[in-house]
Amino acid sequence: MSGEKHDSSVPQGPARRPQPPPAPAYRATRGNPLDTDRGRYDRIASAPGRHLAEQLTVPVRAGRAWEVRAGQVCRIVAVAGAQVGDFNCWNRHNPRERLWAARTRQLQAAHVTTYDRLWSTLPYLRPMLTFTADTVAYGRDDNGGRCHDLLGTRCDPYVNRLLTGEDFDSHCHSNLVRAVLPYGLTEPDVHDVLNVFQVTGLTGDRYFMSASPARPGDFLEFFAEIDLLCALSACPGGDLSVELWGPAAQDPLPTCKPLRVEVYDIDPALLRGWQPPRSPGYRGMHGLRSAAEGGGGT
Ligand SMILES: [Zn+2]
Repeated sequence: MSGEKHDSSVPQGPARRPQPPPAPAYRATRGNPLDTDRGRYDRIASAPGRHLAEQLTVPVRAGRAWEVRAGQVCRIVAVAGAQVGDFNCWNRHNPRERLWAARTRQLQAAHVTTYDRLWSTLPYLRPMLTFTADTVAYGRDDNGGRCHDLLGTRCDPYVNRLLTGEDFDSHCHSNLVRAVLPYGLTEPDVHDVLNVFQVTGLTGDRYFMSASPARPGDFLEFFAEIDLLCALSACPGGDLSVELWGPAAQDPLPTCKPLRVEVYDIDPALLRGWQPPRSPGYRGMHGLRSAAEGGGGT
């Protein structure tokens, strides 16, 4: 035996071969739908003359929902400094179209920043919004952590009960449920989130979270590609500087802060030549039509 230390929980069988570094599976090529018009979003982010249409505060350990019309810009602001926010979005007119975190991880990245987009569920599959500014600009830290996380999901009372044996009603899942009720949505409409201002990564293929780096006034801003219903929870974990479920778990309430949401109308001239993205034109029936026709099909 070599005497090397192996993690016995990680099988290393004969199927493993040395490999060159892989390229991303989904890449933008000139003119394809992943090729974002960065100049347009730069102009939207920097042009003067925007007008504050709505502003709201998401209080500590609470959730709020709001609408953003296609062509408007919305900012999520860490108004008091480091605080994680759990974000959901839906097509305002059809809640079955909503953020698809897994496909967004593939088409964009596991952490999002300026020029990335959030993509919607099937059969819609189109950009719901495009990020236009990210003042955190965290990049990659020494542990491989990055900010604005799509790897994980929201905290919820079920996993809390599972891990602690206690009930708690202000987890992000519950905050989002309460926030969307006035819009006619219910618990099953709440979905995997974008964790704004949250630093995460993988350590030994296990999910980790680090303290939020957001400074007072930092913001993540997006352009709405379609009419949106958005919801945001000010995570009860606060800035995630306190361990929530591990052996050193403490109450993170002292780290909790509110978040602010700002919605802006922008100069209509910036929208010239832009239109809400369309879904892919798949017109097949997943093979059902040819099956009904006896397997023929043309
Ligand atoms: Zn949370």
